[in-house]
Amino acid sequence: MTQDTHQNTVRKLVIVGGGTAGWIAAAAFARLRGKTLDIELVESDAIGTVGVGEATIPQIIRLNTILGLDEHDFVKQTKGTFKLGIEFVDWGKVGTRYLHTFGDAGMNLASVPFHQYWKRAAAAGHEKDLWHYSLHKVAANKAKFGKMDRVGNTSMTGLAYAYHFDASLYATYLRAFSEQLGVTRTEGLVQSVTRGGESGDIRSITLDDGREVTGDFFIDCTGFRALLLGQELDVGYQDWSKWLPCNSAQAVPSERLETLVPYTRATAKSAGWQWRIPLQHRTGNGHVYCSDFISDDEAGETLLAGLDTKPLADPRPIRFTTGRRATFWSHNCAAIGLSSGFLEPLESTSIHLIQSHVSRLLQLFPTTSNCETERAEYNRRCAAEFEQIRDFLILHYHQTTREDSEFWRYCKNMDVPDSLRHKQELFASSGRVGRDADDLFREASWVQVMLGQGVMPGSHDAMADGLTEADLGEFLGNVRTLVERAVDSLPTHEQYLQQHCTAD
Ligand SMILES: Cc1cc2nc3c(=O)[nH]c(=O)nc-3n(C[C@H](O)[C@H](O)[C@H](O)COP(=O)(O)OP(=O)(O)OC[C@H]3O[C@@H](n4cnc5c(N)ncnc54)[C@H](O)[C@@H]3O)c2cc1C
Repeated sequence: MTQDTHQNTVRKLVIVGGGTAGWIAAAAFARLRGKTLDIELVESDAIGTVGVGEATIPQIIRLNTILGLDEHDFVKQTKGTFKLGIEFVDWGKVGTRYLHTFGDAGMNLASVPFHQYWKRAAAAGHEKDLWHYSLHKVAANKAKFGKMDRVGNTSMTGLAYAYHFDASLYATYLRAFSEQLGVTRTEGLVQSVTRGGESGDIRSITLDDGREVTGDFFIDCTGFRALLLGQELDVGYQDWSKWLPCNSAQAVPSERLETLVPYTRATAKSAGWQWRIPLQHRTGNGHVYCSDFISDDEAGETLLAGLDTKPLADPRPIRFTTGRRATFWSHNCAAIGLSSGFLEPLESTSIHLIQSHVSRLLQLFPTTSNCETERAEYNRRCAAEFEQIRDFLILHYHQTTREDSEFWRYCKNMDVPDSLRHKQELFASSGRVGRDADDLFREASWVQVMLGQGVMPGSHDAMADGLTEADLGEFLGNVRTLVERAVDSLPTHEQYLQQHCTAD
């Protein structure tokens, strides 16, 4: 590693790859380390980007805040929409649907989770649908959206949201932002990598026209190729296909939806599932499937048959293997984005993983080549994060009564990690959630997906017995009234976009 003899600092950062991962890394490093690092991003027009990745989770708001982006301008430039959650159709059982929202259903009382009161009341004959009390679900049903941190002056939390956006416009947006902050962009195809002496650290990359780009630290954002960490440094890949068996996708844009609903839809199919993402100018669609159970031709036909609007192109196939790199940072190179692993897009977690890896790398970024402790900590935390998300995704496939295809029989009967089995058993027994403290998914997420997939707890937590029967009925009635009034006060999603986020 080249070091400044006086300051002993890493001075030149090279990011290889200009997809969503490369440009998020460039933007964040430029914003937070731009004064102390030279940053160069290399990308190849000949290779291009994966071109998908259009749905996010609320954590992206933190990234935008760190970057200092204007939210309405950001949504306008990326032709984006707002997202309150994901509607899962036909997952636990054909004919069922539920919304995994970004918020809580109802409101907790005396530190007892709302769903425990709801469970007690449902057993006594009250409303049996938890989502009846969900601000997000009622707003989503009416295609409404607005900014609301809190419901009136109550303790009920308001609307948590994320975005849908056009992936190529997002990369363009971040590129302009990064270049403005001084990031140098170099177009060219990396042909070889030069490593140094004893350490084996990467010294430079050479492009197809012979240009050499040297650096002290490299971020591999080359997508599924993992050119630096996987190919050059030979870091292996942990294959998780036995738990997350989908290995292919076909994506196709279609005309925009007549009503812009504020949520993603994920509809289970015979050998996978289909997404629908509403954007201002078009709809993003894709079919994620396992090629062991369905041919590409049939998968393409299923996708087209499941569209709600007219297709605007032909489906484009993409292959992947679910899993993660054995380590995420080796020598003087960290892989971020698809090069670091892929958990499939079911809960829109990949862009979040990019963001959290970038922020972790910023926190642990080395000042000298002697950075083993930082590297070990980075690898430990990235691995734990990947595993927690993996378990949450497996839950959607495994917690099902579907036996109507070979794929679903496999998912229903597969062995799952012990960490997930424990959570399923705990919830089924008492509705308690055994999540880890640093789990990306909140208690409300686990509750909604468990219930939505058909797990009804055997009993409620005895702490929910603190209210009399009459008080319980009144509490639930009040919650429902608060939710209805709050949703009535919101504009439609379309009105909100027109007012704040569309081109003049
Ligand atoms: C089917 C599918 C659906 C998805 N949906 C979502 C979603 O809804 N939400 C979400 O958060 N994520 C989603 N993702 C993940 C998301 O698309 C990616 O995390 C995101 O696009 C980042 O990709 P990337 O930048 O790592 O790779 P890419 O977009 O593949 O970019 C790779 C870059 O590396 C460059 N490159 C490669 N080789 C070379 C070389 N030799 N020389 C020079 N440059 C090179 C390319 O030019 C390109 O710029 C989805 C992924 C798939 C496959």
